[in-house]
Amino acid sequence: FKEIHIVGGGLAGSEAAWQAAQQGVPVVLHEMRPVRKTDAHHTDHLAELVCSNSFRSDDYENNAVGLLHEEMRRMDSLIMQAAAKHKVPAGSALAVDRDGFSEEVTKTLEAHPLITIERGEIEGLPPQEWDNVIVATGPLTSPALSKAVLELCGEDALAFFDAIAPIIYKESIDFGTAWFQSRYDKGDGADYINLPMTKAQYEEFVHDLNTGEKTDFKEWEKDTPYFEGCMPIEVMAERGPETLRFGPMKPVGLTCPHWDEKPYAVVQLRQDNKLGTLYNMVGFQTKLKYAEQTRIFKKIPGLENAQFARLGGLHRNTFLNSPKVLDGLMRMKADTRLRFAGQITGVEGYVESAAMGLMAGRMAATERKGGTPTPPPATTAFGALISHITGGADAKTFQPMNVNFGLFPPLEGRVHRKERKSAMSRRALDELTSWISELS
Ligand code: FAD
Repeated sequence: FKEIHIVGGGLAGSEAAWQAAQQGVPVVLHEMRPVRKTDAHHTDHLAELVCSNSFRSDDYENNAVGLLHEEMRRMDSLIMQAAAKHKVPAGSALAVDRDGFSEEVTKTLEAHPLITIERGEIEGLPPQEWDNVIVATGPLTSPALSKAVLELCGEDALAFFDAIAPIIYKESIDFGTAWFQSRYDKGDGADYINLPMTKAQYEEFVHDLNTGEKTDFKEWEKDTPYFEGCMPIEVMAERGPETLRFGPMKPVGLTCPHWDEKPYAVVQLRQDNKLGTLYNMVGFQTKLKYAEQTRIFKKIPGLENAQFARLGGLHRNTFLNSPKVLDGLMRMKADTRLRFAGQITGVEGYVESAAMGLMAGRMAATERKGGTPTPPPATTAFGALISHITGGADAKTFQPMNVNFGLFPPLEGRVHRKERKSAMSRRALDELTSWISELS
């Protein structure tokens, strides 16, 4: 077969190269380090872990990222094999010796007879003669390539910073306090979930935001702009005690059915996925530390038992508006020879990025061999992530996402809340097994 080209030898690109080569397709893997460095990487290894050495929970029965590990193992993942070999003790989490791990990935790919590694930056769009390309250049994609993608797909195709508001599982919200209503009953009249606050609760909340511990920007992130539309909630709170009440927490146009008095302030939650299982806190993008977010946001009436699918953040991060620009096979609609993988597709985290690399590598190889790829079922962790980024999420408000059970289609029939995660995991692994056997 003619070779496929993979740009970026991080978590996603390394996994993609392995998968395509294992399917018998030759691969040229282009990695710009050490010729050109990024602000976060320190070595010239492939699949370098730039920060924590953890792949998070390895519990595949109750945790969506653990389930993703298991699905990757069942698809011969190189990242999972190297992680198993270089595992360090971390309780129920999967953590690795970072140098051993990335050296292992590098040596394995260098030794593969169908893989050629070329060191050097791909400046701009890959040449036209490369007809099957995976772009996996990550959160710190080099500027020349980002610019070319913007020129190809338009201004709103690519973001350079994320501004993530916490996302909550709808089933964990207390509807004895919360209610559905749109401000002034606009739209369908009931698009938002509202959470009321008294004056005393609001004042305590503003105090908590002002005094809560925040995460610092890294030195190279210091030029992160705060756009007026996505300013961190604590920065708004700092501007004055009433700023939030006249901003995202304004109580006007809403009628609380549970209280006689009018709420002093209201937090609004907006649906975050087509399935309607996840809601984001409108205007609550934040640099508060994770533990502080949980402590402070659980004080909001109605969120006392809230379960967070993801917490908020603000980082330098290059990511596509995937629901708008990618098709269901992760190809760029404007140039379908380019398939994207990893964090640049709007997933977040080492494992999710590697998982998208695995899928992209398999799909690219199938195409090269003359077939048509079939995406995995949306009931699997692989499929839930792909469905979310390529269509389930709203293109207007798209922000990066970790894998979580809120992305999976609900179970059929009544299943006790405590059993739901394990039932979803069982369903995922059963359906993955059937899908793999159909593929082969
Ligand atoms: P990367 O692993 O970054 O790989 C992309 C590769 O592409 C890089 O090697 C880069 O050199 C190369 N490249 C870029 N442009 C070009 C080009 N034009 N030509 C050739 N090569 C190019 N995730 C976690 O799960 N846990 C964490 O603790 C964590 N901490 C993070 C800290 C920082 C500072 C950053 C920036 C990210 C962090 N992440 C973390 C997210 C993490 O980067 C991603 O989850 C993961 O590395 C993404 O994998 P990737 O393959 O998409 O990108």
